[in-house]
Amino acid sequence: MRSIEHFINGSSVADGTRHGDVWNPSQGEVQARVTLGTAATLQKAVDAANAAQPAWAATNPQRRARVMFNFKALVEANMNELAELLASEHGKVIADAKGDIQRGLEVIEFCCGIPHALKGEYTQGAGPGIDVYSMRQPLGIGAGITPFNFPAMIPMWMFGVAIACGNAFILKPSERDPSVPVRLAELMKEAGLPDGILSVVHGDKEMVDAILDHHDIKAVSFVGSSDIAQYIYSRGTANGKRVQAFGGAKNHGIVMPDADLDQVVNDLAGAAFGSAGERCMALPVVVPVGDDTAAALREKLVPAIDKLRVGISTDPDAHYGPVVNEAHKQRVENYIQMCADEGGELVVDGRGFTLQGHEKGFFVGPTLFDHVKPHFKSYQEEIFGPVLQMVRADSFDEAVRLPSEHPYGNGVAIFTRNGHAAREFAARVNVGMVGVNVPIPVPVAYHTFGGWKRSGFGDTNQHGMEGVKFWTKVKTITQKWPDGSAAGDHKEAFVIPTMA
Ligand code: NAD
Repeated sequence: MRSIEHFINGSSVADGTRHGDVWNPSQGEVQARVTLGTAATLQKAVDAANAAQPAWAATNPQRRARVMFNFKALVEANMNELAELLASEHGKVIADAKGDIQRGLEVIEFCCGIPHALKGEYTQGAGPGIDVYSMRQPLGIGAGITPFNFPAMIPMWMFGVAIACGNAFILKPSERDPSVPVRLAELMKEAGLPDGILSVVHGDKEMVDAILDHHDIKAVSFVGSSDIAQYIYSRGTANGKRVQAFGGAKNHGIVMPDADLDQVVNDLAGAAFGSAGERCMALPVVVPVGDDTAAALREKLVPAIDKLRVGISTDPDAHYGPVVNEAHKQRVENYIQMCADEGGELVVDGRGFTLQGHEKGFFVGPTLFDHVKPHFKSYQEEIFGPVLQMVRADSFDEAVRLPSEHPYGNGVAIFTRNGHAAREFAARVNVGMVGVNVPIPVPVAYHTFGGWKRSGFGDTNQHGMEGVKFWTKVKTITQKWPDGSAAGDHKEAFVIPTMA
């Protein structure tokens, strides 16, 4: 059986006695095993990073950017191979796997312009003969801990910016689909990145705790579920690290009475069921405003759901593939039962779905609930499967309140033709990313990604200038070059200097 090893100091390293199964979710079979490392494995990556990082930080930013240009070309040249590998471990369809890689590459494109982003500020003549300037310096070694659902994009969000800023980076990818992160690190080496600057260590909680407790790791970026995000944030910051930790989501799509319902149905089908609902920016809750809107929407939505094609990840006609593993399939089906037990009307039931020839695959059919109420546990929690819950609202104010009061605050969308309503909604809603007639408002790479409330712990977002801030620290220099002639230069000063 194929073995997936760590990538440390530019080489494959087999280290650790425990292993994890890597499944092919379409077939329901184990296809590889990943070696789970320990604190000793991490130490090897840290040693390599410590040895390589000072020279990398001293490499001028244009040269660092050229590695990013080379890497972008290599990923594009290897796109098909990467997408097939990604789809085989995750289960998303190939076209969607390419999207996962492409969204990560767009952050790499941002990193190609890193010299511009790292320019400091300068004030000439801040005082008599005094100039003030600032510089952004790398932190040293950063680490990233990433989820299974975007095994290419999220690692690239993190290591692209961290490395372009002059840091060394240690990636601990999800142990469920670890192959693509290793391939990306190999391609970074091929692109010209010195050994030791990007290492990949595999593992579970043991490895994560070793990262959180390691003195030499100065910053940790995490994306995953909320309870783990909160844990990472608490333990990492208690150890004096800079931590950004992004959690789960339950994004709402508000449908106003004047919305273009045909467009809404198309958008909802993709946003609720695409990637089997395993996206942190999926839209698993739809909120029609008014019963007439709800009735009209439901009439169009049900036939659209009936037309969805669930298939294996290599089926070019499939809209979405299996969920990631058997336990997750069971969890999603349990939530479907819970929502029905809580009083939701189960309009389309996706349980018990099997695909001929792939009976062991982890498939869940598309599921629709109507009349879901805000107090349901199945509404309060993240399901992370192809399940759409309709929560009817009586008014615009109620539609603003629902996502605003929900524990998660990652993304939200409003569908309307009314510019004033959209503007009000965007200003008032208590959520980090807002779409106006855009169902999955993942901001472009040069803007920034981050949710609020239980969707995000910490202060700075991913990528864009927020990412540059996260992976650097500011140093501010106040300088004076006396000409040696003025008597005042030699005076003792016991009073704090001011600009008065
Ligand atoms: P997860 O929390 O199970 O795992 C994420 C990472 O944490 C993995 O690397 C895993 O090995 C590690 N981990 C798991 N259990 C741990 C523990 N007890 N202690 C320490 N580390 C642990 O998440 P997942 O199932 O891989 O990913 C899906 C989740 O990620 C969903 O909740 C989804 O909403 C969220 N997500 C959020 C965003 C965002 O930007 N907010 C993006 C993608 C995914």
